[in-house]
Amino acid sequence: MAGSLFSPLSPSQQQPAPRENWAGNITYSTGNVHTPATVDEVRAVVKGCAKLRALGSRHSFNTIADSDANQISLARLDQVDIDDKTHTAVVGAGLKYGQIAPILDARGYALHNLASLPHISVAGAIATATHGSGLHNGNLATQVAALEIVTADGNVLHLSPENDGDRFLGAVVGLGAVGVVTHVKLNLLPTFQVAQSVYQNLSFDHLEHHFDDIFGAGYSVSLFTDWQNHRATQVWIKRKLAPGDTNAWASEFYGAPLAKEKLHPITGHPAESCTEQQGIPGPWYERLPHFKMNFTPSSGRELQTEYFVPRDRGYEAILAVEKLRDQITPHLFVTELRTIAPDDLWMSMAYKQPSLAIHFTWKPEWPEVRQVLPQIEAQLAPFGVRPHWAKLFTVPPPRIQAQYARLAEFKASLQRYDPSGKFRNAFLNANLYSS
Ligand SMILES: Cc1cc2nc3c(=O)[nH]c(=O)nc-3n(C[C@H](O)[C@H](O)[C@H](O)COP(=O)(O)OP(=O)(O)OC[C@H]3O[C@@H](n4cnc5c(N)ncnc54)[C@H](O)[C@@H]3O)c2cc1C
Repeated sequence: MAGSLFSPLSPSQQQPAPRENWAGNITYSTGNVHTPATVDEVRAVVKGCAKLRALGSRHSFNTIADSDANQISLARLDQVDIDDKTHTAVVGAGLKYGQIAPILDARGYALHNLASLPHISVAGAIATATHGSGLHNGNLATQVAALEIVTADGNVLHLSPENDGDRFLGAVVGLGAVGVVTHVKLNLLPTFQVAQSVYQNLSFDHLEHHFDDIFGAGYSVSLFTDWQNHRATQVWIKRKLAPGDTNAWASEFYGAPLAKEKLHPITGHPAESCTEQQGIPGPWYERLPHFKMNFTPSSGRELQTEYFVPRDRGYEAILAVEKLRDQITPHLFVTELRTIAPDDLWMSMAYKQPSLAIHFTWKPEWPEVRQVLPQIEAQLAPFGVRPHWAKLFTVPPPRIQAQYARLAEFKASLQRYDPSGKFRNAFLNANLYSS
């Protein structure tokens, strides 16, 4: 086992057959997966490994979580500790949102937002600035009130905005490079109800003058498109319900009729896996994601790409991508357009920038998709495009690096936390360090 003191297999290690990410497009370069159950066990694993990457729920589409030596899963750190005085919860880093959400809700709390699926781990999501939608909703990393991290020397680092300012802001979207996050303190809101409805066939023309009205028509709004016919095939509006809200839905939204039945975002897919629509109210965690916890989210075998552009140039960026519709559509399951509020987290795709995220769920046709991505990226280059850290892209590293104003400080902090590069892998070497 390369670079580890744990040999032969220790109780905190499993050695399954070569493993894939969720989508099956990446086979990890090691079978050495450590599964400690306590922070002390994490510290021992970290001290014992010369090279190591933390692994969440394996939902990333690229090699960001890969290691050719060792991975460590935090899935056995599974405590949720709610503090009613501070309205925060400390959660084990490997827990999935779908596991913690019902516990928080039962105690009267909510998280401000969720991604399209509840199946992902908290630490994996915040490490890559995973997001949902909403003009006023920051990504999921903006929920973080404090972090507990085991750094390369095996010591435990606690970071919070009150005590650590910039050090905290630099570490939250850590790309797995700062250390192994063991516990995350999350800010909680009072629980709330959400109702979602879907409208069909919204002309893109309305976005020219009503971009913010359309994306601000609910607490969280997603537009889906196949890029054909200059329209969104579906508009998903998730509305936060106040007590006494009549929950009435107009029969049309900018000329788009209200759907009469529950729909999957990918035309023709059965909608059973989707969270309830048609205005039926439900708890935040059963409406903010598009997909239910106990079903396969999205399509299953698929690839994903997502590009962030400034929201105030969102319509322009959509038109730029639309020019490639005939190259895109044959390989596409669906595109989703979402907005993300700006934040202060150094490596976040929405750092200091109200953003539009242009997402592509591709068919599992990498050779063809690989040809289309540089064309889309060329169209979006004038917008200072930032690709999602966890998805597939071909943007040259210097262009990515140029988009992150705090990159030099981030790299300086990594030099302090991890001078030997224990947590660096090929993905980080390529995208953060190569010129
Ligand atoms: C069907 C599907 C739908 C998706 N929908 C969305 C969406 O709506 N919005 C969105 O933004 N993204 C979405 N994604 C992408 C997903 O949110 C990201 O890939 C996210 O990073 C996955 O988290 P994970 O737990 O699977 O982490 P992994 O993929 O296992 O790891 C991701 C990164 O987190 C790091 N990491 C994991 N655990 C730790 C830890 N304990 N300490 C330090 N670093 C750690 C890893 O080292 C790696 O760098 C979707 C993915 C899929 C498959």
